[in-house]
Amino acid sequence: MKLIDGKVLSAIIKSEIKEETAHWVAGGGKQPHLAAILVGADGASETYVASKIRSCEEIGFKSTLRRFDASITEDQLIDEIEALNDDDDVDGFIVQLPLPAHISENRVMEAIDPKKDVDGFHPVNVGRMCKGLPAYISATPFGIIEMLKRSGIETAGKHCVVIGRSQIVGLPMSILMQRNDNPGNCTVTICHSRTVNLKEIARTADILIVALGRAEFVTADYVKEGAVVIDVGITRVADPSKKSGFAIRGDVKFDEVALKAGFITPVPGGVGLMTICGLLTNTLKAARKEIYP
Ligand code: NAD
Repeated sequence: MKLIDGKVLSAIIKSEIKEETAHWVAGGGKQPHLAAILVGADGASETYVASKIRSCEEIGFKSTLRRFDASITEDQLIDEIEALNDDDDVDGFIVQLPLPAHISENRVMEAIDPKKDVDGFHPVNVGRMCKGLPAYISATPFGIIEMLKRSGIETAGKHCVVIGRSQIVGLPMSILMQRNDNPGNCTVTICHSRTVNLKEIARTADILIVALGRAEFVTADYVKEGAVVIDVGITRVADPSKKSGFAIRGDVKFDEVALKAGFITPVPGGVGLMTICGLLTNTLKAARKEIYP
């Protein structure tokens, strides 16, 4: 079994982005500027946004955090998004999800200018990705593609099973794995909560990408000997031995699956760290106007 180490890979990618940014700025380019909107005070969202802002500082980006109370109305939030759309200094921005229940995430995502949509959630970016046109690829699928590429995993002709069909992970992942590119060229099966015989299907996977959000759901009997197992799940489980009172678990029962898998990603220390790299890469592309010249 080989561990696909998100800590090592994300540190390499960040240092590459840092170098490219310094080179770009030294050549007279604009310092990339990422803005983030955070609504409410959800603990996990606070952690994710803080880590995104910290990463910007590390690699030489400018960053801005705009915080709003959970009581903000949908129209007020749209006004704030439009202000960022019109702000020439901001190259890209994200609205941290989830949003409070009274706000439509779809309306919010569609209000973001696709040119600044560095999370890659706007229908224009999703559509362009499906057509194989230059697009901001959403951060988690981008991170997984980089893990496969940088680990030298052969994907062409392989059977890839994706468990989960969410807009932010499962669905874009399935599209990227079947495209005519490297990584890509897989035969893809996408499974979801209504899939019958999930275990039997998972067992036929050469590459198993698991994003269903249930701690340690995938046990060794879901995995073919030698398969590549990518664990996207992040679930907090109570753990009184930790200072925080919780531990992070993936969707894969790591200890037993690791004995069978050819490659596996750990949680924490896997896909989660790569996700930030996707966001930073997209922001640098936005500053250089690479996707939308
Ligand atoms: P989601 O809840 O939007 O989607 C879950 C998907 O899993 C759904 O499509 C559902 O049909 C499927 N599913 C649920 N139960 C199932 C079952 N028993 N069998 C088969 N399929 C089932 O979740 P999401 O936003 O895609 O996130 C999935 C997990 O990945 C969560 O733990 C989330 O925290 C994590 N996540 C991690 C990152 C990262 O950077 N590592 C990024 C996004 C999400």
